[in-house]
Amino acid sequence: MKEVKKHLIIAPHHDDEVIACGGTIAKAVNNNEQVKIIIITKGDLSLKLLDDKDIEFISNIRNEESVNACNVLGVKREDIKFIKKGDRTLIYSLEFVKEIIHEILEFKPNIIYYPHSLEGDRDHKVVNEVVSEAIFLCKSGFINEDGASYIQLCLQYEVWTPMMNYNIAKDITKFADLKKDAISKYKSQLKKLNLAHGILGLNSYRGMQIGVPFAEVFKI
Ligand SMILES: [Zn+2]
Repeated sequence: MKEVKKHLIIAPHHDDEVIACGGTIAKAVNNNEQVKIIIITKGDLSLKLLDDKDIEFISNIRNEESVNACNVLGVKREDIKFIKKGDRTLIYSLEFVKEIIHEILEFKPNIIYYPHSLEGDRDHKVVNEVVSEAIFLCKSGFINEDGASYIQLCLQYEVWTPMMNYNIAKDITKFADLKKDAISKYKSQLKKLNLAHGILGLNSYRGMQIGVPFAEVFKI
């Protein structure tokens, strides 16, 4: 495989990027590779059940948490983009596909990460469908003449529905502590979920399958 320099992580919600790819992101940054993260939704339902604060206020809290978490992994604020669609409102549309195509053509990633097709979460399923179509169109030559030949790998990740099968397992052992720290920045979610314990538990299980302490897995 050609040298990988640019990783594009597409996350339906704030925290999916860290849960699914936190170790992989830290590893890429450590290798001096470029990482861009796109968060699709604005997090407007993520705190609503707890209190009655307005949507913009909630969204700003969630953005700040993402920035803090990704900073721990070595990703700067300017490399995180918030698309700000409403939580649980995502539907497949050509307009949405075009937005993702625009991001791909602009950043020219070598590897694209997005949720796997069997994720139970509705927003995750829609993002899988939209990103799959955007990649297909970019590579088909309909959109640009070179068929986005810079794209070497498209990796689907797991968040809430562990994958039955995967093709790639990345050893993230050296970066597991950083991933744990990054997850701890999502303070609003920690009130409801013991995220670090659960997710590092999954990474530990994945690591056991390939003979290392911690791993993240992906499907091509
Ligand atoms: Zn999510």
